[in-house]
Amino acid sequence: MSIPQRIQEILDTIPENVTLVAVSKTKPNEDILEAYNSGYRIFGENKPQELTRKYNELPKDIKWHMIGHLQSNKVKYIAPFVSLIHAVDSFKLLKEINKQAAKNERVIDCLMQFHIADEETKFGLDINEAREIFNSDDYKNLQNIRIVGVMGMATYTDDETQIRSEFKNLKSIYSTLKEEYYADEDGFAEISMGMSGDYNLAIEEGSSMIRVGSTIFGARNYANK
Ligand SMILES: *Cc1c(COP(=O)(O)O)cnc(C)c1O
Repeated sequence: MSIPQRIQEILDTIPENVTLVAVSKTKPNEDILEAYNSGYRIFGENKPQELTRKYNELPKDIKWHMIGHLQSNKVKYIAPFVSLIHAVDSFKLLKEINKQAAKNERVIDCLMQFHIADEETKFGLDINEAREIFNSDDYKNLQNIRIVGVMGMATYTDDETQIRSEFKNLKSIYSTLKEEYYADEDGFAEISMGMSGDYNLAIEEGSSMIRVGSTIFGARNYANK
């Protein structure tokens, strides 16, 4: 099956209100263009440098999502064009995004990343850390970012029960924050969860945005993962 066919197959099986982010990290421009020429516009990358290079080389109406861990000192490279930043995991990072967005006279949409896996290595906040951010006066003064939801990554395991419970946890964090801080804001609407191996489970548990790489573009070369 071709790349556009694999994208279409996923789109045919997911609900209409779920956004598919085609994760093109490590893949060449030709692969992205194949998808682009079939009409697809939403792509995800996890490294600022690679993302910036692809932005420069590819058509400008692509919506680029930064899905990976982002260091504050790299925000400036993607701030001019990025369409959604998925993995905001500190107040420091959020403030830097705001600063760089202001320089570019933009408002940048962001998701707060939560730690839901039982793996030490995955980044993310817990709900009290998010509350501390949202309660602070500093946060209320950020005019150039908009928090549009939450993001999380489940543990890499075959145990469906565990994955499901981690997704349930993220959904519940979303609902709690929605009620406490965003009850009147329609903009706080996204739950980014689910990848190639678990996106169906994620959708069953309330995902509104799935990030799918290898199922669309094929396995990645682990040497440059
Ligand atoms: C690579 C990556 C994905 C996609 O992973 P696949 O298993 O290839 O679908 C999703 N989310 C994040 C944050 C990633 O880094």
